[in-house]
Parts: sequence; structure tokens; C-alpha cells
Amino acid sequence: MCGVIGVYGHPEAANLAYLGLYALQHRGQESAGIVATDGERLRSAKEMGHVNDIFTADRLRELRGYAAIGHVRYSTAGDSSKRNAQPIAVDYFGGSVAVGHNGNLVNAAELRERLEAEGAIFQTTADTEAIVHLIARSREQTLPARVADALRQVRGAYSLVFLSQDQLVAVRDPMGFRPLALGKSKDTWVVSSETCAFELLEAEFVRDVEPGEMVIVDGNGVRSERPFAAQPPHRCVFEWVYFARPDSTIDGNSVYRARERMGRRLAVEHPVQADVVIPVPDSGVAAAIGYARESGIPYDQGLMRSHYMGRTFIEPSQHIRHFGVKLKLSPVREVLTGKRVVVVDDSIVRGTTSRKIVGMIRGAGAREVHMRISSPPTVGPCRYGIDTPTREELIAFKKTPEEIRHFLEADSLGYLSLEGLYTSVNGSEGANKGFCDACFSNAYPINIQQPARLRQLRLITG
Ligand code: AMP
Repeated sequence: MCGVIGVYGHPEAANLAYLGLYALQHRGQESAGIVATDGERLRSAKEMGHVNDIFTADRLRELRGYAAIGHVRYSTAGDSSKRNAQPIAVDYFGGSVAVGHNGNLVNAAELRERLEAEGAIFQTTADTEAIVHLIARSREQTLPARVADALRQVRGAYSLVFLSQDQLVAVRDPMGFRPLALGKSKDTWVVSSETCAFELLEAEFVRDVEPGEMVIVDGNGVRSERPFAAQPPHRCVFEWVYFARPDSTIDGNSVYRARERMGRRLAVEHPVQADVVIPVPDSGVAAAIGYARESGIPYDQGLMRSHYMGRTFIEPSQHIRHFGVKLKLSPVREVLTGKRVVVVDDSIVRGTTSRKIVGMIRGAGAREVHMRISSPPTVGPCRYGIDTPTREELIAFKKTPEEIRHFLEADSLGYLSLEGLYTSVNGSEGANKGFCDACFSNAYPINIQQPARLRQLRLITG
């Protein structure tokens, strides 16, 4: 769960990257960073915290140059600390290179073990650093060739932006797990995890970077290469459900419209007699609108969200998350008292937030609370870049929907079917057309290999 941005060909490239990071802030709130080049050298600023807190006018002024990359991080591999903040920028005998990564490398431990055995000294615990070592070791001559050489040794999910003194390189892994889009504003090229950043930068959406594609931008313009063997795409369906901002398009389709369709479909699959449909803001808004439109039940705002807090799930410790729910959401009694309420959210992970929300709505005087979820039960942790807890912590792994309903203390609970989800995302038929849905199906397209050291330890102790 991270966001990346790259800008090439603008005298204030770092400022544009900074604005772009604002638009991508929802993808990660732990740390943020920008690296810029003026053609001579890379300059970097990164820190723990939100974009707003990190980049002062002075800091941005120091990031001189016509090209820049930026990153917002929410750790899925490696701990949450400043040393793991990205972009990672290094000097090596081939020059300087910086990288920002959204995704998760499934063979990171194995790669790290091999590189460390060969003498590499790692500065971070983030999986991304292995890529930098592989680039430095490559015998290829150009940055794109070195990057391709490095990535052929890597397995997993990556949407990456690289910056050298004079080149911007953007790559999406062959399965295309995480999104990446290309935009343009006059002579400036922009790559971004999500198209919502283009709105802010007044850049025009050109197209999505395709799975397995490498886009290279330098003084000669922009070109595209396909350095990897083609593989069937596995784009993350959860980006559609929750992660991407609704004002983005992914692979050419509107996220908002897809979520609205999920809500409509949910109303067909799980109808109920009720007085009002409310969303869990902000994640349930578009689906709740769809549910209300399809069912004819009026839509209203029964919960208010404080925008001065991050997402509650984001804080790594359980203790803070519980506290956060109360700080974040507050019931609107006027909307809820005496009503039969349908409350729509995008997903249930541990169930703890949802349980509090049901309690909050009931506490505000609702007569009935019907929970509707615009995705199927989350039964598997993501291994490709979305932060989800372990399988045992996922409530739907352990409990049936009826048991979950009981735990939530809701009057009814309905999840969207997988077929319904695909019908909504595709706009027509309910088939999986090149998506990864491991979190809903437990079908993992790439398996994680145990690093040799762990296997050996098990042998000795077991
Ligand atoms: P819970 O009731 O504790 O399972 O939390 C459910 C809430 O977490 C829903 O509002 C979801 O929108 C939200 N959510 C789902 N997946 C994630 C994630 N990977 N990171 C942060 N929040 C999430």
C-alpha cells in the first residue's frame, strides 16, 4: 500500500511531485519522500509523516531540477521507520539511482539472503532495497537495461518509478497487480499510481502503463519496452473495492462508477425493508449511493467522519486503532433515531471497526441495523502490497457470515458475491477477466517461497 509519482520535463518537477503526493496520500500515510535531479546529481528529502507535514518551502527549494519521483508509504514489508522511507536513493559506480515502489516482492527474503551472502550490506529492512542492489550488480550498461536485468530476478507485485541523473523509468510488473498510469501536460510527462493525481497537476491522462511494460522518459522523449516474458494479468480487484480513490480510473474505467454498481448489485443480492441507507464514510459512499438508487430507499449521512485523522486501520498497533474509531466517526442522531438503517461499507477485515459502527448506530437510537458489504468475505491476506492482517485475524476466515452477523450484533448482514463484484467492475458479465482476487478466493497467483535459512532452522528444531 503505497503511492508513486514521477515527473519529467518541468523546471519545478519536485513541486509537481509534491502536489501529486497530496493526491496519493490515501495510499500511504507513514512516510513520504521526493528525489529530484537537475541533470548533475540527485537530491532527496524524506521523512515520517504526512506530505503536508514533511515538505516545507525550504525543503522543496532544495529539490532543484527538471525531473523528480515521489513516494508515500504504508509499510507492507519492512518496519515503519525513517530508514525505510522511500524513494531509496543510492550512488554506485554506474551513477546515482532512486526508486519508489508500490507492491510487495514475494521472493525478497530469498534475494536478500543471497545478496547478503555475497557481501551486500543492506541499509533498510524494506523489500525494495534488494532491487537497488541488483541494479548495482548488473553488468548491463544503461539504466533501463539494468532495471530490466534486476527485475527479471524479482517475483511479486511492483509498480516502480526510478530516477537517475537524466532518466525517469516507470515499470509495472508482468501481472500488473498494482496500477500505474501515464499522463502529460504540455512537455511534462507524469507517471502516477492513480489518475486522480493528474487532475491536480492539470495533466491529461494518456494511458495506463500496461502489465509488464517499462516506460522510459529522457531527453529523447518517451519510449516503451517490454523486457519480460508475457504472463496472464492479475490486476488487484481490491483497488476497485477500497484502495483506489473513486475519482481515479483504472485500466480506463471509473472506480466511482464501478463502486456505485457494486452497491446496486448488493441491493439486488441482499434486499431489505428499511427507512434509510447510510455509508460508512468515506469507503462506503459510492456503494451506498448505488444501494439507495437501486432499492429506492432514501440515502442519508448517518455517520460523520472527522477528516483530521488518518484511516484508523493505518496505525500499526491494535490499541490505537480502537481509540481511533471513536475519534473518527460520529453518529448523526437526527438521521438514525427510530429508523431501520442499512449501513454500507466496502469490506470487513477484523470486524472490530464494523462492530463498533453497528453499536454506534444502535446507540443513536436506530431500530434495526442492516450491514451490507460491497465485496465478498475477506478470507486471505494480501501478499502483493495491500496491508491485511494474518489469516487468523481475518474474521471471515474463522466465521461464517451468520457468525459474523452475530459478532457485529447486526440485524442482518449481506456480502456482495464474487460474481456480483466482477459484474460491477467489468460493467457487464461476472467473470474474472485478469484480476487477482486472492483476498476473496484464497487463489494466490504467485506463491511465497520460504527463504532457505528459515527452512533449515525448521529442520533443526522440528
Ligand atoms: P474492521 O471492521 O475492523 O474489519 O474494519 C473494516 C474497515 O476497514 C472498513 O471500513 C474498510 O474500508 C477498512 N479497510 C479494509 N481494508 C483495509 C486496509 N487494507 N487498510 C485499511 N483499512 C481497510
